Amino acid sequence: MFRARRTRHTATVRSVVRIAPRMARISLGGPVLSDFPDVEPTQWIKLFVTDPRDGQTVGRAYTVRAHSAADALLDIDVVLHGNGPAARWAETAAPGQEVAFSSPRGAFRPEPDVERYLLAGDESAQPAVLTIAESLPRHTRATVYLEVEGPEAETEIDAQADLDVHWIHRAPGQPKGEALRDAVLKAPVGATRIAAWAAGESGAVRDIRRFFTEGIGLDRRRSYAKGYWKLNEADHRDPLASD
Ligand SMILES: Cc1cc2nc3c(=O)[nH]c(=O)nc-3n(C[C@H](O)[C@H](O)[C@H](O)COP(=O)(O)OP(=O)(O)OC[C@H]3O[C@@H](n4cnc5c(N)ncnc54)[C@H](O)[C@@H]3O)c2cc1C
Repeated sequence: MFRARRTRHTATVRSVVRIAPRMARISLGGPVLSDFPDVEPTQWIKLFVTDPRDGQTVGRAYTVRAHSAADALLDIDVVLHGNGPAARWAETAAPGQEVAFSSPRGAFRPEPDVERYLLAGDESAQPAVLTIAESLPRHTRATVYLEVEGPEAETEIDAQADLDVHWIHRAPGQPKGEALRDAVLKAPVGATRIAAWAAGESGAVRDIRRFFTEGIGLDRRRSYAKGYWKLNEADHRDPLASD
């Protein structure tokens, strides 16, 4: 049922919880979610939502933050950036509303011999970064950079791995992605077998991608960087991402 990427399924909003001042955790439920496949880190779905402002339906990518087949529930964490149809939909989402979504895709599967992970994202990529961090086994080392507005937006991380987490706070008025890029470009990279993953605003990610490949010398199997959105562009698709 979930093999064909483009098939649309329907679920119902079960709950909406603010997990940070500008982040809503939306739980979707419905019988179809009992058959949803086991979710791998960073997998995402396309969510089809109706803009409350003009009634237009759009498709936007959201990471599967958690899934329970037993409870037939799937969680997504949506940034309430206020400026697009999906963000507006999330702002007004309420239990009982129906949404359509596509099958999951885009799993992160690193090489097996990694000594240290380097993970980075802004709020849009925080769900994906956390699915990786939480999937890493005990004694695995990971340096994690997460850009947020301020301390009030930091969330708990429930991981077994040995994480070195850096919450990067934006300065007032600073464009999203800049502080993340500056921090990642100064990351200590002593280990020989690094796997790096980053996503967020497309311009910042472009510089981070270059750092992964030219700065640290990682090849495609060990580095992944994708623009999840782009400043002043609706429904951005990153042409440089490898998927
Ligand atoms: C694989 C993948 C997984 C993703 N997972 C998540 C996720 O789990 N949670 C999540 O919140 N987002 C996630 N995103 C990003 C999300 O798809 C985009 O932010 C999307 O543009 C939001 O759609 P929209 O309708 O709100 O805005 P759009 O109509 O796409 O854009 C309208 C305006 O809003 C601006 N904008 C878009 N996103 C942001 C933002 N995050 N902050 C500030 N301004 C923004 C644009 O620059 C544009 O000017 C993911 C993207 C990809 C590709």
